[in-house]
Amino acid sequence: MADAGARITVALVDDQPLFRAGLRMLIESQEDMELCGEAGDGEPAVAMAIERSPDVMLMDLRMPMMDGVEATRRIVRHAAAAGTEKPKIIALTTFNRDQAVVQAVQAGASGYLLKSAEPEFLLAAIRTVHSGYSVIAPGSVHSLFAHAARNALASGPDLSVLDVLSVRERDVFLLAAKGLSNGEMAGSLFVSEATIKTHLRSVLDKLQLRTRLQLVAFAHERRLLGN
Ligand SMILES: [Mg+2]
Repeated sequence: MADAGARITVALVDDQPLFRAGLRMLIESQEDMELCGEAGDGEPAVAMAIERSPDVMLMDLRMPMMDGVEATRRIVRHAAAAGTEKPKIIALTTFNRDQAVVQAVQAGASGYLLKSAEPEFLLAAIRTVHSGYSVIAPGSVHSLFAHAARNALASGPDLSVLDVLSVRERDVFLLAAKGLSNGEMAGSLFVSEATIKTHLRSVLDKLQLRTRLQLVAFAHERRLLGN
């Protein structure tokens, strides 16, 4: 790892050498990024994550031996067990509405992108997840998760999972699940953004979720949004 805090260290995982070559050139052309490793399958990707602790990993979902979902799961599990910070993982997929993306998010990915994304969008996504936010392919997350929920066997909404939350936390949960930003939630509930952040942290803790995107998936899976 190079100068901590100076550059974003990025690791690249994809089984297609040509695709990696394109991304490598793109990342190396950025002054605030540095490529710290490449892997062509899930297992070497897990080893690389442990050895080099990249800030951000671009993770192909479909690879021959171990797919990106399983690799993400192992990387997150290892970091939790070791008490180290996990890399921020961006799942890469060829298909819009790819259900593997839902699994990747549930496994702890910070978001996903289509491989057809514009280079500038990918670079922005790397910077965004590095600063602690989630990214998603534009416009598709809700339809994706709603689709996943329709395919699931869940029979009806199980609102009892929200019993652990206070009334205010439940409000925050439902607004966040609909995709509102902290600022929008603050405006809608007439409280400060700091208060929203505190509630949101507590909601994630109580529901044992790691990210806001997992919260969205959680709400859709359990049909808590009334759709
Ligand atoms: Mg692939």
